[in-house]
Amino acid sequence: MTLFGGRRQASGGRRAGGAGGSDKGSDKGSDTVAYSKRGGWTVMGRLLTPHKGRIALLSLASFASALLEALFIVLLTGIGMALVGGKDVVGPAYGQYLPMDTALAVACGSLVLRVILSLIAVHLSAALTAVVSTEQRQRLSHAFLHTSWSVQQAEPAGRLQELLTSFVSRITQAVSVLATAITASLSLVAFLAAGVAVDPLSTAAVLFALGLVGSVLSPMRRAIRRRSTRNARAGLDFANAVSELGALGLEMQTYGAQGAFTDRIDELTAESTLTQRRTQVLQGAQPQIYTSLAYGAVLAGLAALSLVGFRDLAVIGAVMLLMLRSLSYGQQLSNASASIAGFLPFLEWVDEVVKGYAESPAPGGSVRPDGVVPFEATDVAYAYTPERTALAGVTFRLEPGEALGVIGPSGAGKSTLAQLLLGLRAPTNGTLRAAGVPLEDVDRGWWSERVAFVAQDARLFTGTVAENIRFFRDGIDAEDLRTAARQANILDDIEALPQGFDTHLGERGNQLSGGQRQRLSIARALVGRPELLILDEPTSALDGISEALIRTTLSQLHGRLTVVIIAHRMSTLDICDRIMVIEGGRMTALDAPGALRSDSEFYRNALAVAGIA
Ligand code: ADP
Repeated sequence: MTLFGGRRQASGGRRAGGAGGSDKGSDKGSDTVAYSKRGGWTVMGRLLTPHKGRIALLSLASFASALLEALFIVLLTGIGMALVGGKDVVGPAYGQYLPMDTALAVACGSLVLRVILSLIAVHLSAALTAVVSTEQRQRLSHAFLHTSWSVQQAEPAGRLQELLTSFVSRITQAVSVLATAITASLSLVAFLAAGVAVDPLSTAAVLFALGLVGSVLSPMRRAIRRRSTRNARAGLDFANAVSELGALGLEMQTYGAQGAFTDRIDELTAESTLTQRRTQVLQGAQPQIYTSLAYGAVLAGLAALSLVGFRDLAVIGAVMLLMLRSLSYGQQLSNASASIAGFLPFLEWVDEVVKGYAESPAPGGSVRPDGVVPFEATDVAYAYTPERTALAGVTFRLEPGEALGVIGPSGAGKSTLAQLLLGLRAPTNGTLRAAGVPLEDVDRGWWSERVAFVAQDARLFTGTVAENIRFFRDGIDAEDLRTAARQANILDDIEALPQGFDTHLGERGNQLSGGQRQRLSIARALVGRPELLILDEPTSALDGISEALIRTTLSQLHGRLTVVIIAHRMSTLDICDRIMVIEGGRMTALDAPGALRSDSEFYRNALAVAGIA
């Protein structure tokens, strides 16, 4: 959900459906995923398969530790009874009589061993949780970084952040709780085995009671799962809205809209915390109800034993202790299953998103053409949605060193063309060829080293000037940085900064003016010595002086590399050899500026508006 609008449609992934069949009021068609209990467990299974060895060791350590605990309890009861009866022999425990010394030594030994094994189990569980958390973060971020531009660009604001932080943290919790559940269930099995050895009848009663209590609580677990699904969606909506709020700070202050923003954020906060509170109430109530039911079952067991006239105190004592401890493991198991039910929607959600990213990988092949230019577009078309074509019938050929201008009204398809030329989107019709090789077959790494882009708004990041120009590329030395900065007419400005190229720009480079930021991003484009430079409205947000500086740069570059300039300002197009006019998604003219005056009415009007005779 966006700040004041409805939910956004996620385009990239195969997101579909509501968040669960029984989730009333769910918004079908929003960026939610279909959820099923089995789906969540299948994802969990896939997630844990690579860690089978660790899980097996954890199970073994938990089982052995519980067996030792059961042995200790039986011995403890025996020792207590022997002391009360003034005997120096303990037993019978599992049909054996033991001298008091030996019984004490075995009890102590089993305690020490149990502690060691439990610590090993704790260590294994922590390691499992940590490794799964790392894997999930990597899986999600790598999938996002390798998905196509169209999917990345359609991603609702704030969603990736929310998935990488709170969703992954819930998955981590799910794995940690699952490890607890494994320990609890194996301990329960060990205790029941110990119980059977002491007295099969009472143990069968315990088993029955646990089964009964577990099934009584099963509708509650289903409700927890449903509410968690809603909780997950409310969290995503909240994250999206908050990130929009961050982006609209200036407008909010300017128009004094703080009140409306505050109300909306309060509303979203209330929605999100309400679903969270409801889930938490159910999750908190579940163990309390379980404990009462379980104690009730113990009471019923004792009543049954007294009714049949069972009077063996040593056996009753041992079975009672084993039973109570079993019930506490049962309770842990029940708590864990309630928590896991709450976490499963998060697991499935992340999995669906990753699959969506993977289904639409960034395009690219392995061919390295002789060059980027000559670059040919033949009858190229692009449609964002099947119903509406944004661009069609574009045919042209770019020669090495040529400067091509692109003009047209807003929404005509100019930026779409830029994204096609950059290879970020694949045409829905027609072909693009670099030196005769279809763009989809070209090696992306090779392409990115030779094609550069300057957008309307310079995007700088927190880092030094040098880092911002270098933009994570290898093999760019200090001299390259200076050359590019000189070409971009920004060298003097950089040298005037306190630490020159090493000056830290602070968040998003806000120490610099719009014009300086734009020239810095031109230096970033030029430092890789591109063959083709594409600029999308590089000067439309700038003052006249900044525009003149950029024009100087472009005219100095003219003929040395191939340039495509999309521009509103006719003055920015001074250097162009040819100009293409795009109107309503169609290329309506392409010619040298002189000839275009007679070819294109749009061009003539644009010149007149700009005051150029
Ligand atoms: P221009 O750059 O000439 O202003 P664009 O290439 O940005 O035009 O847009 C061309 C058409 O494609 C417009 O109708 C616009 O609404 C649509 N469009 C642009 N980007 C998207 C997108 N990401 N999803 C859907 N439609 C889009």
